[in-house]
Amino acid sequence: MSETARKELQLAFCPGCGTFLQKAAIAQSEMICPCCGKDVVVSIKNGKVIVFESRRESEQDPEYMMRVRAMTYLNRMRKAK
Ligand SMILES: [Zn+2]
Repeated sequence: MSETARKELQLAFCPGCGTFLQKAAIAQSEMICPCCGKDVVVSIKNGKVIVFESRRESEQDPEYMMRVRAMTYLNRMRKAK
């Protein structure tokens, strides 16, 4: 049964708007909420989920803005299905 606990998937939600972000047993990643565009850090380990807003000053970075737009677009496509 210990294997079940190890593989148990945790859900991570956006701290700003509550949108589902990621499902994993172990994760450490930075992502952008497809709903509100917040830059968040997702940390999942030992059955605990920590999601917090990343306060990087990257809003003026054009590459970052393109990433936000691309993800927002992707999310719209998914919702349209
Ligand atoms: Zn959000």
